[in-house]
Amino acid sequence: MLYSKLVQLYQQLESTPKRLQKTNYLAQFLSTLNDEDISHTMLLIQGRAFPQWDQRVIGLADKTLVKAIVLATGKTAEEIEQLWKTTGDLGNTAATTIATKKQATLFSEPLTTKKVFENLQKTATMEGEGTVDRKLQLIAELLTSAMPDEARYLVRTCLEDLRVGIGDGSLRDAIVWACFGQELSLQYSEQENDLALSDEQRTKYDAHVTAVQEAYDLTNDFAHIFKISKKGINELKNITLTTGKPCNVMLYPKAQNIPEAFETVGKPAAFENKYDGFRLQIHKNNKAVLLFTRRLEDVTQQFPEVVHRVNNFIQGNSFIIDAEAVGIDLATEKYLPFQNISQRIKRKYDIRATAEKSPVVVFAFDILFYNNESLINKPFSQRRQLLASIIRPQKNQVELAEQQIIEDEQTAEAFYKKALASGYEGVMIKKLNGIYKPGSRVGYGVKLKPIMETLDVAIVGAEWGEGKRSAWLSSFTIAVQNEKGELLEIGKVGTGIKEKDEEGISFNHFTELLKPHILRNEGKNVFVKPTVVIEVAYEEIQQSPTYSSGYALRFPRFVRIRDDKSLQTISTTTDVEKLYGEQRGRDS
Ligand code: AMP
Repeated sequence: MLYSKLVQLYQQLESTPKRLQKTNYLAQFLSTLNDEDISHTMLLIQGRAFPQWDQRVIGLADKTLVKAIVLATGKTAEEIEQLWKTTGDLGNTAATTIATKKQATLFSEPLTTKKVFENLQKTATMEGEGTVDRKLQLIAELLTSAMPDEARYLVRTCLEDLRVGIGDGSLRDAIVWACFGQELSLQYSEQENDLALSDEQRTKYDAHVTAVQEAYDLTNDFAHIFKISKKGINELKNITLTTGKPCNVMLYPKAQNIPEAFETVGKPAAFENKYDGFRLQIHKNNKAVLLFTRRLEDVTQQFPEVVHRVNNFIQGNSFIIDAEAVGIDLATEKYLPFQNISQRIKRKYDIRATAEKSPVVVFAFDILFYNNESLINKPFSQRRQLLASIIRPQKNQVELAEQQIIEDEQTAEAFYKKALASGYEGVMIKKLNGIYKPGSRVGYGVKLKPIMETLDVAIVGAEWGEGKRSAWLSSFTIAVQNEKGELLEIGKVGTGIKEKDEEGISFNHFTELLKPHILRNEGKNVFVKPTVVIEVAYEEIQQSPTYSSGYALRFPRFVRIRDDKSLQTISTTTDVEKLYGEQRGRDS
């Protein structure tokens, strides 16, 4: 397929903020795809050259791209950088430069999606000496053949910042529209921006959307799902788990207290410690072990000791196990905060030494697949029984999550208190006959943990949004003060702010509040004079080199604007240090 056809789609997607209209463009495009183009084009639509779970990423630096544009156009780096300053977008800079380029490209071939995809994959897989130059050549080769609009999206894809405003949800719906549109008599009205479904149609439509979503949660592979959906809904429903392809993990909503937890999961329920590390999905097929994070990154290379333990202490030819890997200080046997092991996830070299310096213990808590059979529709109690029977626990290496079946609130309270006193983050409370539903927060299990005190912080910066949020400031840099009253950054917050004015404090509201106080723009980033104080909640405070306070809030959430608070009375770094120390009973 010609790359220009895909670029046309990108332009259509970028031209509208309306989700249904985007879905319609996507569906029309998918309907024209040839079978041999599906796999790579589906990735390119998402701005990727590899599936989400693949370790390889395109990830080229701005500077490399500037050099590639220089090579392809004959302009100087200064000229490109100057233009980049005015456009604020390297993709647009490439487009403008190519439109005015001096070098003749009379003999260049039109770009195909396949060629683009191949070159992108090659650049990402190259390693060793001289690779920067070879990568440059590959990208310059594409840019030399590119038309201006093609260059824009090529550059953005290389930067992994496509900015056409589509998420997994749009792609999922587009597959339904493209494959089942006729069967469901779907008709999108552009004027009304509506599908105008009757109740009966809506039920059928929703069922198809759910079927595609479920298949996606199991495989994370839109290309595969699209190919199967073309065959029919029954074939789609037969998609199942496979070892080697990570599935989306089941998520657990939050319970406020023990009675609410029991209400959600029923009595009796399984209580487990909530270990504070990172989620690890362990796949085994014969001798081949693969490890994935919750975001489906392949971290097998980074955790050789875990691979070894899986092979030695867990029986079975094939399985998929859900677990938490937690940092541990082997001398004191104390569990360590996540950040102590976070650097291991991205580590590419010195893996053994890092493993020794930052050991992890793995707590297995669920099993989804065993000896070629999917277990996700079996009750949790059965899955756990099987898990217990195949693991030979090794202290501080691989263990089974501690579990107690509890049906009265007093015992539950005691379990929770003991978990907190032992330094765990909280407890997980699981429904005994709950199935495993990948990717959803369905309430087959809940988490319970103490609510952290909120912080009052000043807004010192923001970022212009993307897509339909492009007229708004959408991510706000927040700061606390030190004893001298200097503001030090502690994170960025966007969650908790509403899309629409009628729903509460909105992005629009913040944009209006902050606009008069913008001090300067730097690309998408703006710096504002601190005038607005807000209250934020968060899940945890972490030490972090990213922000000037030396701390970062994990999952910060906007609570309310504190008009009543002056800048002088916002939270201090001393407050933050104190809260950090109190977390998870670390002082005890
Ligand atoms: P949260 O990250 O706060 O949403 O809490 C859910 C996460 O807790 C899961 O995604 C797991 O990574 C982690 N976790 C720790 N211990 C357990 C456990 N016993 N059962 C399930 N998840 C656990």
